[in-house]
Amino acid sequence: MIPAAPQTTVDVLAIAAHRDDVEQTCGGTLLRMKSLGLRTGILDLTQGEAGTRGSAEERAAEAAEAARLLQVDIRQALDIPDGNVANTYENRLKIAVKVREMRPRVVILPYWTGRHPDHYTASILGYEACFLAGLSKLDTGNPPHRPFKIVYAGLYADVRPSFVVDITDHIEQRFASLMAYRSQYANQSAGSALFVPEEEIRERTFAMARHYGLLAGVRYAEPFVQKEIGLVDDLTLIPVQSI
Ligand SMILES: [Zn+2]
Repeated sequence: MIPAAPQTTVDVLAIAAHRDDVEQTCGGTLLRMKSLGLRTGILDLTQGEAGTRGSAEERAAEAAEAARLLQVDIRQALDIPDGNVANTYENRLKIAVKVREMRPRVVILPYWTGRHPDHYTASILGYEACFLAGLSKLDTGNPPHRPFKIVYAGLYADVRPSFVVDITDHIEQRFASLMAYRSQYANQSAGSALFVPEEEIRERTFAMARHYGLLAGVRYAEPFVQKEIGLVDDLTLIPVQSI
């Protein structure tokens, strides 16, 4: 019997600039989607060679462990230079090739403003790559595909979310996935002026998730922004109590 080809498609794909970005902004949501029976994936645009701490090899091993903890079906990293994520045709094409391979229904991108240029550039780059992936004239060896929905992870954006995802059942696992990046988050001397102590990361992670959870009447949540307006059919089924 011929073994089945490994399934290369996902329902939800999170695209981010750096290894550990997804763990910080939407890892709980990926776990939640997995618990609903959906296939999930992560596409990191860079390999982390420019970070203050750790080598690209160390971060690759840590990213694999974090992927295991987040239960994602696929995690891949492109070779876009860390610290120099640019919105070029070449980079849009690299991402479009992956979008056509993985064929996600939903793509999660970083929010489009922020402190780190790689983050906000990854946002517009990812959007334009998703557009490119749908162009029928572009031949990449896979048929055209455009995700139905693009949402933006807003955890560090300090903007009012369009909606939040309840991650109450998944927050410990999400925190564990972040702490898999020992080279980044374990207490150490290199970059100690730049990085917060390990104990504080736990408090910060839970406090932010609690804040967004409270906005929707749940314990812990991750925030997202969508550019489109929400559409409602049955008014009686709208969640989150008003008074
Ligand atoms: Zn980052």
